[in-house]
Amino acid sequence: MAHLATEVLVIGSGAGGAVTAATLAEAGRTVTVVEEGPWIDADALEPFSLDEMVAKYRHHGLAAALGNPAVAYAEGRCVGGSTEINSGLYHRLPDDLVAEWQTRYGIDEFTPEALASYADRVEGRLSVAKVPGAPPASSAALERGATKLGWRNVEFARVFSYDDQQRGTKQTMSRTMLPRAIAAGATIVPDCRVQRLTRQGDRVTGARCRRTHPGGGVERLTISADHVIVCGGAVHSPALLQRSGIWRNIGNGLKMHPTIKIAARFPHPVDHGDVPMHRVTEFSPFIAIGGSASRKGHVAMALAETGAPYQDALAEWEHISTYYAAIRSEGSGRVVAAPGLRSPLVTYSLTDADLSRLARGLVNLGELLLAAGATELHPSVVGGRVVHRIDELGSWWDQVTRARANLMTVHLTSTVRMGENRERTGADSFGRVWGYRNLRVNDGSLIPDAPGVNPQAAIMAIATRNCDQFLADS
Ligand SMILES: Cc1cc2nc3c(=O)[nH]c(=O)nc-3n(C[C@H](O)[C@H](O)[C@H](O)COP(=O)(O)OP(=O)(O)OC[C@H]3O[C@@H](n4cnc5c(N)ncnc54)[C@H](O)[C@@H]3O)c2cc1C
Repeated sequence: MAHLATEVLVIGSGAGGAVTAATLAEAGRTVTVVEEGPWIDADALEPFSLDEMVAKYRHHGLAAALGNPAVAYAEGRCVGGSTEINSGLYHRLPDDLVAEWQTRYGIDEFTPEALASYADRVEGRLSVAKVPGAPPASSAALERGATKLGWRNVEFARVFSYDDQQRGTKQTMSRTMLPRAIAAGATIVPDCRVQRLTRQGDRVTGARCRRTHPGGGVERLTISADHVIVCGGAVHSPALLQRSGIWRNIGNGLKMHPTIKIAARFPHPVDHGDVPMHRVTEFSPFIAIGGSASRKGHVAMALAETGAPYQDALAEWEHISTYYAAIRSEGSGRVVAAPGLRSPLVTYSLTDADLSRLARGLVNLGELLLAAGATELHPSVVGGRVVHRIDELGSWWDQVTRARANLMTVHLTSTVRMGENRERTGADSFGRVWGYRNLRVNDGSLIPDAPGVNPQAAIMAIATRNCDQFLADS
């Protein structure tokens, strides 16, 4: 059995883990990052392709939170975590939520001003920019439809840098924070899954891991560490803590942004290389409208969801783009590491109000797309009517039921909520797990509720803040 010793062990290399590793390594700490997934060069695979899904997504993209209805979800499993596969959209946490969470969860030093200063720091280390020149046609459709209807819409900035020819490169963690961490002396160990943490009283002493070698061999690795920071994401951080015997307020309160989709056919081809950066905010914070990746495979899956014949539409897939309405859900879920199962069981309960918001979101989205010039709308509803005219949209109100709605999400949070209110939280205001002196969480799990906006900006700002407190404290 191999053994490693480090001062700080960071588990997971996504938005939270990479920021943690870079910040602590640059402050002179000895950092080792272990990542369950492989290290794949960020330029090696085409973004949003099937190859990318197979190589970088956990379970090749097939995972669901069980419930009525189930909600399919996706997460990254590679060096850089979900930042390697995400759309790069970047939105600071709204100030009203910061203030609300500060009060509800009793989070110390958590004010709009403090968070804004950490967001400034993140944005100084990554390139955050709007697309130079005109947005792609799939994004312009959102802007056009919203403008015609008089609805508010915004163009989001993204974590992208642009060259002289205006070619964009997504600033994933493997292109930004992880190289910074390595330059400052950190070690990254890919293909290495932490199975459980080792503990002694109120201290964590390290971790037991299984490392897979490129040839397929598996090696056991133990790591001893002075400090352990778990950054496995909102599903796998609580699962690891539970596998290690730590359960209090860990894994409950899962939050997400469930989304319902439409595949919209236009009379002309739409681009498929990029993901729309416009967002319709008319119904914020509870309903947000945007666009999704729309490669041929995504379009085919979206068209198949109603169960109606789709060959004719698929033959013209270049004219089709997929869009979504996402809600800030009132419901919540759980992550449970069940003995004998490699992956945790994830469940989610939508409330009736959630379902009604999804129906409203779908109808609003349909109206917007027709206003933007779409001629045929395929909803992600089993048996849902394929709509061509505005007067047909009303049929969707009754069709969005628990039995028929096909939902998915890529935003998962809140399974180890932070704050001083011990009834509601699994970790203190800076992510230190209650009951342990040297064990912290520093990822999407800490965010106390669904943020209503894309979460990576909040995760990175909070992770930076927590690192500062760690450095001052230890
Ligand atoms: C398809 C998609 C599109 C998205 N688009 C956007 C967007 O445009 N804008 C935005 O703000 N957000 C977006 N998101 C969400 C955003 O990427 C995530 O919220 C964010 O990356 C979560 O950060 P994290 O650190 O909590 O977890 P992750 O980034 O998921 O990283 C967790 C890492 O930990 C590793 N890990 C887990 N358990 C273990 C273990 N036991 N041992 C070792 N390693 C482990 C995982 O393999 C993974 O690499 C998107 C997500 C997806 C999937």
